[in-house]
Amino acid sequence: MVSNAPDPNPIPDIPEEIAGLRMTRQRQEIYRILIEQRNHPTANEVFMRAKDRLPNISLATVYNCLEALVQHGIIRQVNFERESSRYCPNLREHGHFHDATTGVIHDVDFKPGVSLADVLNLPPGAVIQDVEITLRGKLVAP
Ligand SMILES: [Zn+2]
Repeated sequence: MVSNAPDPNPIPDIPEEIAGLRMTRQRQEIYRILIEQRNHPTANEVFMRAKDRLPNISLATVYNCLEALVQHGIIRQVNFERESSRYCPNLREHGHFHDATTGVIHDVDFKPGVSLADVLNLPPGAVIQDVEITLRGKLVAP
């Protein structure tokens, strides 16, 4: 079905530079791929999507682009056990819910006003600098 409704989440134009990283055409396309379909693809999946737009791109270039974007804090690299790394453009503090039935990885946000110190017995003086929360399960009808 074709919808004429405006896209509720239009893809913003990607600037020439983000966080000090010069956004080459290839980096722009890789970043756009991650924003367009936020389903935590692996590098190989990004490569498959990128080939439509950049027919000459190599898997090594995709890895280089992803690494540069990760190093500049533009996207996050997410690792689930021994699986291939996945990539996420959501920079808010969030966890991931891994649906074992479908394999889909959902972003899980903190409820407003809730901090980890409210639900976890942290060591005294602990300052959290990075959060990695992975939840596994399945979605059942409510
Ligand atoms: Zn995520």
